[in-house]
Amino acid sequence: MDPFNKHESNDSAARSDSELQMVPSWSIALAAVVFVAVQYMFFVMMPHRHNEVLAFRLLMSFTWGAALASYTLLIGYVSRDVKRRNMSGRLWMLIVLLLPGGIGAVVYFLLRQPAQMACPGCHSQVPASVNFCPQCRYQLAAICGQCHRSVRATEIYCTQCGHDLAEDHTPARLRA
Ligand SMILES: [Zn+2]
Ligand SMILES: [Zn+2]
Repeated sequence: MDPFNKHESNDSAARSDSELQMVPSWSIALAAVVFVAVQYMFFVMMPHRHNEVLAFRLLMSFTWGAALASYTLLIGYVSRDVKRRNMSGRLWMLIVLLLPGGIGAVVYFLLRQPAQMACPGCHSQVPASVNFCPQCRYQLAAICGQCHRSVRATEIYCTQCGHDLAEDHTPARLRA
């Protein structure tokens, strides 16, 4: 069930799609519940006074609701992201949940390992950012034939050296 075991993850368009799929549906549902619960707290449970400013209450409820809902989405993202990086899921979920004010999430993004994927050629685990498999030389991403930097599947000329990428005979699976 790991979306990053699919070879299409090398295509940058597919990569941004899978990034969105990294937020599980349970955390989207939970974020909506959290937002509604915060509104309930501010408008139903908190005592109303006669001389209060409604706009201030609206601002506070929206800010707190949005902040806590985003945090819920972030926790959902981390819960899936740890799995494709060979990191301890339980440990990192605890750190992100328990360190206050989002510090746990900051620590997570600073310390996380590079994402891993299975090489389609030899099925060994390789970092998702490499261009060639270190075990079997399977080409995992499109590169410029002249300067050997990564190029996007949609580009016709290399953005670094201007090389005509059509001359490289890149495998069709790595072209748009
Ligand atoms: Zn390989
Ligand atoms: Zn180049």
